[in-house]
Amino acid sequence: MNWNDNLTAERVTFVTHLECSMTGERYAADRLHGLSSAGRPLLVRYDLDGVRGALTREALANRPNDMWRWRELLPVRRAADVVSLGEAATPIVSLAKVGARLGLKELLVKDEGRLPTGSFKARGLAMAVSMAKELGVAKIAMPTNGNAGAALAAYGSRAGIETIVLCPDDTPEINVREIAAQGARVYRVDGLIDECGAIVGEGAKAGHWFDLSTLKEPYRIEGKKTMGLELAEQLGWRVPDVIFYPTGGGTGLIGMWKGFAELEALGLIGPERPRMVAVQAEGCAPMVKAWQEGEEHAGRWQDAHTVAAGIRVPKAVGDFLILRAVRESGGFAIAVPDEAILAAIDEAARQDGLLLCPEGGATLAAAAQALERGLISRDDHVVLFNCATGLKYPMPDRSRRLAKAGPIDHAAL
Ligand SMILES: *Cc1c(COP(=O)(O)O)cnc(C)c1O
Repeated sequence: MNWNDNLTAERVTFVTHLECSMTGERYAADRLHGLSSAGRPLLVRYDLDGVRGALTREALANRPNDMWRWRELLPVRRAADVVSLGEAATPIVSLAKVGARLGLKELLVKDEGRLPTGSFKARGLAMAVSMAKELGVAKIAMPTNGNAGAALAAYGSRAGIETIVLCPDDTPEINVREIAAQGARVYRVDGLIDECGAIVGEGAKAGHWFDLSTLKEPYRIEGKKTMGLELAEQLGWRVPDVIFYPTGGGTGLIGMWKGFAELEALGLIGPERPRMVAVQAEGCAPMVKAWQEGEEHAGRWQDAHTVAAGIRVPKAVGDFLILRAVRESGGFAIAVPDEAILAAIDEAARQDGLLLCPEGGATLAAAAQALERGLISRDDHVVLFNCATGLKYPMPDRSRRLAKAGPIDHAAL
């Protein structure tokens, strides 16, 4: 096995068609698509009987451990179109002390902060940009709260595709700078992410670029679903009891749910599923509101605000897919206040040495709240998703001064 087998070996591919997630209407594979004619996300479908013969446990055991090991369940046809920056499988890290304080038997974090560009957006954008390359796209635009733009910039530059990124005004400075540093043209816009998205949509309609907004093209989901495939394999072809997922556009939650169904069809897991929990911030919780009210779609959240910028999404195109997965899995949607998010980050870092991003902190705060409210039990195997490295976010200054001239009381330091 060579380190780059997954990136260079041609594999048989099994995409049969794409399908409207609302109406089931079929669309041809290997063509450029945005939303379906019903204005809904398109889902990629595979000949799963074919995949079953090719993507076996034995085949997987002989491949490097990155997200491209799932090639038969991915849309890219030709190895030459794979655009990769080293999407290694991310580790599962236990929060032993925090878990013990909460009284949970097992509290695990899938730490997606280890991916290229420091967030799990790398999975989705590596896939979407690879497909854009395969389908001959020359210019891409996208709205972002930060991490998606950084990933688009990096993969776009690598693929030789021009990229334009629009961010809400209050996007963290580090994100705006990393996007530009990796070769995109980035603009701050005096609006929220859906308003940036409207500008991108207008430009796409006028033929200036391809719109790579969350769920408005079919392939980011396919990249994000590898989180679920990878998690099941890492747990010995089992799924956890509960997954807490910080939900903005919901690509990851929708993708993992799709991925679990595909694994079952391949005979790699059984019918068991984790309860999927959509975690949002109290300052922007459209999915929680819709879940509580039993709605199929969510309304636009007014005055969205939270420290967790990645989940500050007032309106999601895939709202009904998120709500469906949450309901079918027997899960729930839950909102946490910013103070609880910050306290959770602090506790995980100081007790267990794992620096979460704010959205990851939200999942920990949500798990604690869910336990308190009796929504999960102490015996549940719980997996949280930390979706970005904590290093991109502001940290409180707790340093102290020491004068080198002394006197220094070493014992008191
Ligand atoms: C994008 C993002 C999210 C939300 O992910 P979705 O799959 O779009 O819901 C959460 N956290 C961070 C850090 C993100 O960048």
